[in-house]
Amino acid sequence: MDRIHHRLNSISKSSQSYVFLFGNPVHHSLSPAMHNAAFKALGLPWKYLSILLKPEQIALGVELLKLPQVRGANITVPYKEAVGRYLNQLSPWSHRLQSVNTCFKNPRGALYGTTTDGEGFLKSLGSYRKKISQLQVLILGAGGSARAVASALVLEGAKRVHITNRTTAKAVELKRKLQTYSKTCEIACLDIPEAEKQLHRYDMIVQATSLGLNKNDPSPIRLTKAQPGSLAVDLIYHHRTEFLRLAQMNHLKTLDGLLMLLYQGMLSFEYWTRQKAPKPIMYQALLKSRHRFNKV
Ligand code: NAP
Repeated sequence: MDRIHHRLNSISKSSQSYVFLFGNPVHHSLSPAMHNAAFKALGLPWKYLSILLKPEQIALGVELLKLPQVRGANITVPYKEAVGRYLNQLSPWSHRLQSVNTCFKNPRGALYGTTTDGEGFLKSLGSYRKKISQLQVLILGAGGSARAVASALVLEGAKRVHITNRTTAKAVELKRKLQTYSKTCEIACLDIPEAEKQLHRYDMIVQATSLGLNKNDPSPIRLTKAQPGSLAVDLIYHHRTEFLRLAQMNHLKTLDGLLMLLYQGMLSFEYWTRQKAPKPIMYQALLKSRHRFNKV
């Protein structure tokens, strides 16, 4: 019996409630620490478990979600797009972006998919959110999270959103979609060499690729032409990436993905539990678990 079947078996006999994280890899995720601390603080007998899924196991993962003990799930890299077709209904946003990071059930047990990544990202920007209408942003990546972040920025009124991605066709597709959301935002795609030359034009550079998840990964872009004082954001949160190291070296301000993780997680938590997420507890749990992760 493989691990997923084993889980199905043991959870179907359990009296506890569960929320899962599906992805590959999942070992780096700080979400279990954040959500388990929040469940405990609210006195909920719930458990958040990371489940490493192979691509051929997505359908089986969704079978796990159908168990009455399971309240929902988070979906992470690389399944945010693929999981949508197995769910009963998608929020208008998930449908448009083809990106799901949160699943929950309605009272009849139907599986609903939505995304909290875009709002989580905007909240993580703090005072930058107030000046979005002046911001000229470059986004690296066109995957599930990049699509959510780019859409949130365009809809929030950013002045310029440019996209660069390893697979150009995906960037072009994202640009086409974004253009239907705004008549005022200047939206374009560039290849990486062109983006490197144009870096001085941006107030914010958002690293939304999965390059950087492993400790020795290079940065997807060189930052020598970036404007000193502009903001470099990396959605990766569990360690300092090469992208952020280069940003600091080139005198950019830096923001990692920890606050985005917190805010998108609080929104997911509220979908599952219908209770207010305990922000200070979740944030402390994230800081502690990142510290532990980087000590090993
Ligand atoms: P995804 O849907 O699988 O997309 C991956 C993206 O990374 C694609 O644009 C892909 O380009 C690009 N990529 C992958 N390997 C690459 C490489 N070797 N060189 C250049 N580009 C590469 O993943 P996702 O869900 O968008 O997640 C992206 C990252 O954001 C992950 O690191 C994830 O942990 C992080 N994230 C953080 C938060 C947070 O709360 N802080 C939330 C969501 C995601 P192609 O199109 O060419 O394949």
